[in-house]
Amino acid sequence: MTGVGGAGEWLGEWLGRAVRAVGAWEERFGGYVRHPALAVGGGELESAFERLVERLSGNYPFFHPRYAGQMLKPPHPAAILGYVTAMLINPNNHALDGGPPTAHMEREAVARLADMFGYGTHLGHLTSSGTIANLEALFVARELHPGQGIAYSAEAHYTHARMCRVLGVEGHAVPADQRGRIDLDALEDLLRTGRIGTVVLTAGTTGLGAVDPIHEALGICRRYGTRIHVDAAYGGFFTLLAGQELDPAPWRAIAECDSVVVDPHKHGLQPYGCGAVLFRDPAVGRFYVHDSPYTYFTSDELHLGEISLECSRAGAAAAALWFTFELLPPTRQGLGEVLAAGRRAALAWAGLLEKSPVVGLYQRPELDIVAYFPNLPSLSEIDRKSAEMMERGMTDDPARAVYLSTFQVAAPALVARHPGVHADAPGGRVLRSVLMKPESEHAVEHLHARVEELAAGI
Ligand SMILES: *Cc1c(COP(=O)(O)O)cnc(C)c1O
Repeated sequence: MTGVGGAGEWLGEWLGRAVRAVGAWEERFGGYVRHPALAVGGGELESAFERLVERLSGNYPFFHPRYAGQMLKPPHPAAILGYVTAMLINPNNHALDGGPPTAHMEREAVARLADMFGYGTHLGHLTSSGTIANLEALFVARELHPGQGIAYSAEAHYTHARMCRVLGVEGHAVPADQRGRIDLDALEDLLRTGRIGTVVLTAGTTGLGAVDPIHEALGICRRYGTRIHVDAAYGGFFTLLAGQELDPAPWRAIAECDSVVVDPHKHGLQPYGCGAVLFRDPAVGRFYVHDSPYTYFTSDELHLGEISLECSRAGAAAAALWFTFELLPPTRQGLGEVLAAGRRAALAWAGLLEKSPVVGLYQRPELDIVAYFPNLPSLSEIDRKSAEMMERGMTDDPARAVYLSTFQVAAPALVARHPGVHADAPGGRVLRSVLMKPESEHAVEHLHARVEELAAGI
């Protein structure tokens, strides 16, 4: 398959069509003279573009099935087309003055996300990222439980602890169990102290893809009157597989939680700059109340900027998500097919790793993240060899290169899963692969064979 994102020739043609369509729209407003200060072209353009392309060639091949490292892949060509078409106009979704059409597209796309999580009512919007989306959820949580702390699992995203500091709230890390999920007994012990106002549960941890038992935590949190926020930045779209491939209980329970965050720029095929936060109770909009001397002139309708902490935001991001959902909707048959393939790839690879004499499976994958390590007697050897395998995978034998990532684990976590390993260091690196492209399914055998070779020093 050639062409960006396997789009063959169509993306190039359609990008040209986008430029023509927006040009035709511009003509409706009458001609005008462009200022010479803005002129570029000719040889300078040619050479600057060459330098740009040369610079960009230093990237890792995120698009390729043999790239099985971090949570990275290019957007779907449809998202690129939606983004670029709207970006040629460059609406700002802060306020309706910045362009009503993309603000409405944002509402519609966010409503589809709310539906996906089973929210009957919602208030929500897109954000620049999962971090900002989580910050907004924790900000609202702090307003509702002033003076109380926020609890999250030790495996939760590192930004929760950081945002607690930003918000001036006490953050509490709760230990994780042997599958990387929040330990409910430890959580309840903490809630008993009365110091916690909000619990953050993670639906798909960034490290291992572990899903906290949200359905079980729900009852505990209710008993102590705490608010629940679900961080599904990475895992949220896996709810499309609930009841089919995945145990539905934790996913269905999200509908009962107070807020949820999902990143369309991770598993929603979007370019960076697209997170989302949803609140179940629209009344929390009151915490955002502010006035702006610059904006909010054109309509009495609620402006997105009135319910978000950020000001300017790309309307193009909303157009891209809306357009992608028109073609690949957030349903089991639509986007669900993409996630299901990556998860099948992770399970298939896990099966091979379990049988291998030279590499071992760190833990069974729940979603599409596989963690594994060279079979060596001690943690320090595993650490050194994992780093070497990642490096050599990329550089040796370029035609068969594999791109992996490492993941830092604590000695007790490794030993709990693999009691035979000698814990001669407090922690160390194992290998980790996020199989988030559906094409990963066809690459599993190669990835496994190459990883076995690297472990054997070949
Ligand atoms: C990626 C991630 C975040 C942070 O999101 P960004 O979009 O990278 O800012 C937060 N939580 C989880 C679980 C994540 O996987």
